[in-house]
Amino acid sequence: MSYDRLEMVKESFEKKAIPANVPSKKPSEYFGELVFDRDKMRKYLDSKTLSSLINCIDKTESLDLKTADAVAKGIKEWALEHGVTHVTHWFQPLTEGTAEKHDSLIDYDGKGGVIETFDGSSLVQQEPDASSFPSGGIRETFEARGYTAWDPTSPVFIMGDTLCIPTVFISYTGEALDYKTPFKKALKAVSDAAVPICRLFDPSVSKVYSYLGWEQEYFLVDEILYSARPDLMITGRTLMGHMSSKNQQLDDHYFGAIPTRVAEFMKDLEISGHKLGIPIKTRHNEVAPNQFELAPIYGEANLSNDQNQIVMNLMRQLARKHGFVVLLHEKPFDGVNGSGKHNNWSLGTDTGTSLLAPGKDSKGNLQFVTFFVNVLAAVQKYNGLLKASIASATNAHRLGANEAPPAIVSAFLGRTMTKVLHKLLEVPSGTPIEIAGKQGKRVGLVEIPEIFVDNTDRNRTSPFAFTGNRFEFRAVGSSANCAGALTTLNAAVASQLKAFKKEVDGRMEVGSPMEIAVMDSLKPLISSVIDTVCFDGNGYSDEWKEEAGKRGLDVETSVPKMFSRFTLPQSIEMFTSTGVYSEKELVARNEVKLETYIKKVQIEARVMGRMAINHVIPAAVQYETSLLKEIALRKDIFGEVREDSTETVLVGKISCLIEDVRSKVEAMKEARKKANAVEDIYCKALAYQDIADSLPGIRRPIDKLEEIVDNRLWPLPKYRELLFIS
Ligand code: ADP
Ligand code: MG
Repeated sequence: MSYDRLEMVKESFEKKAIPANVPSKKPSEYFGELVFDRDKMRKYLDSKTLSSLINCIDKTESLDLKTADAVAKGIKEWALEHGVTHVTHWFQPLTEGTAEKHDSLIDYDGKGGVIETFDGSSLVQQEPDASSFPSGGIRETFEARGYTAWDPTSPVFIMGDTLCIPTVFISYTGEALDYKTPFKKALKAVSDAAVPICRLFDPSVSKVYSYLGWEQEYFLVDEILYSARPDLMITGRTLMGHMSSKNQQLDDHYFGAIPTRVAEFMKDLEISGHKLGIPIKTRHNEVAPNQFELAPIYGEANLSNDQNQIVMNLMRQLARKHGFVVLLHEKPFDGVNGSGKHNNWSLGTDTGTSLLAPGKDSKGNLQFVTFFVNVLAAVQKYNGLLKASIASATNAHRLGANEAPPAIVSAFLGRTMTKVLHKLLEVPSGTPIEIAGKQGKRVGLVEIPEIFVDNTDRNRTSPFAFTGNRFEFRAVGSSANCAGALTTLNAAVASQLKAFKKEVDGRMEVGSPMEIAVMDSLKPLISSVIDTVCFDGNGYSDEWKEEAGKRGLDVETSVPKMFSRFTLPQSIEMFTSTGVYSEKELVARNEVKLETYIKKVQIEARVMGRMAINHVIPAAVQYETSLLKEIALRKDIFGEVREDSTETVLVGKISCLIEDVRSKVEAMKEARKKANAVEDIYCKALAYQDIADSLPGIRRPIDKLEEIVDNRLWPLPKYRELLFIS
């Protein structure tokens, strides 16, 4: 491989597509072949073991070690048939991505040979030396023990030669050190809080599921060009780069024909996902050049989130096969759209009723409105916290930057539901009301059509939008673990539902019929959400920022300040009363977040400084030198050179820009020294935020230099190359 930029561009431009590995079978025949799902359980487990395991999964009954041994035996048999040689507990620490430590299956057989072993205890629990994972001080390094424990609700799967067991990751003293543990607690909390309300409408409900359908956006960049961009390699985003003459203004990329090389990558990704039981459904181009999206069919939230983590890993691996690197960063390129991960979220009962979709009859509709309004009330009360749940150093580049999401969490309802809420408010208190379905026999006061035409009402500027049968939490970052945001959302909704049920119970105790008690409890919530969190207008406008402040919504734009929402008394109360986080965990997690924020900015600042000094300035000086030589030559031949000659003007400009870059880098280094000396982690993060804010100032003269320095001398692949070669 050459290190000359133009050579690299040529090489990557000429790359041919590598065909995907397409099985000779139909997708329905290989779907899920690498997961130990219920079909495999039936095949590899005896009936007693099978029913214990199913009860453990569906009814959260505990599993004894004898049964675990029998399960492990079945899993081992299945795994060996697939050529598995290693096993790992697969978990989601508070870093980006997942962690795994592979152990070979072999052990001495006591007769001088080795055999493959895998038993219940290695299935159920392990103790990785976990001292290097972020814990926010919960687990000091000398107390290195943390342990991973099997999550039977997410099936065991095979990646390559390794059997992966989804696990939670917990400190020895019981605190969660990962995303999965609190997420599972939040899912339980929302079920526990929702079931009693559902039972008002249908006594047969015993569990409420939270569903997630994620949409993963990403960029692909040719790996040769990527390798010449230290900023992309180290930070995941470009810290400099002049805008290409064309970017996304023609809107010609969105839903356009997928380039062949990309299409083959997508095929491989889809096939690998399907084998792992991930129901990948859609794939398409996104708005920005070289930006794409994929989305599965939604599923139970814990499983769906695990699948998102697996897909992110698959993407990283498979992109390389096709000569690409996948960028999951929220804002890899300035001037074109960044990447998000819409979290489509809903609740449904174990009896098959969706709680966020209109019902079949008046009762069903009242239940729907009950959940709909309570979700809005939760979003209203915890809007600052929800924003904090999606905040990160990387998502900060999208937040509030005239691109989804705005730095204010509001909810979009659409015309139909806005009308419904207003109508409900008109009903006099204590009046029995009927919310009719479209075909409702009895004429009600409010009509909710059975089918929503939600597409006409799409508002892309809203961070939390109702789309007919679900809410779409659009503010989540593309690189994030969805569990971060969804733990907060489910916990907040759980807490709100609990308060609501208490209110309804109070009214019923003094003799109100259920329907009236529910309606009368809903009405104050409705007027409150309409006046605050509900907003269907343009979420990017300046008027909204002002209006939102007046409505009492959280308008904070500083990421470190947003984090502190997690440790406000009302947040601690909400999280502890729902059993999702202890106060200690909240404090520790905030520490991890602040530390991650600081480190990310610190790394960006270092890379920026080094690229400025050893990539940009040398190229600029080289060009300047050639201009000066030209000027000297002219002086020699013609005796003088005009002050407004092209060369002289350029030399003047370049010297100024170089000086500007150098002095700003120096100032930034000084600021870093000062920031590093700050003891308090929160204050340090604020100091680093100032440094983050200073980086665009260094970038500006660099991008101007890129515009005027001889194209052949510029060492860094340009936006037009990174974004348009695929
Ligand atoms: P769009 O880009 O129009 O929002 P997509 O088809 O890209 O739509 O993604 C929509 C996602 O929402 C899919 O993952 C889909 O399975 C999911 N979804 C649909 N209905 C629900 C629901 N009731 N609850 C949760 N997710 C849902
Ligand atoms: Mg989409």
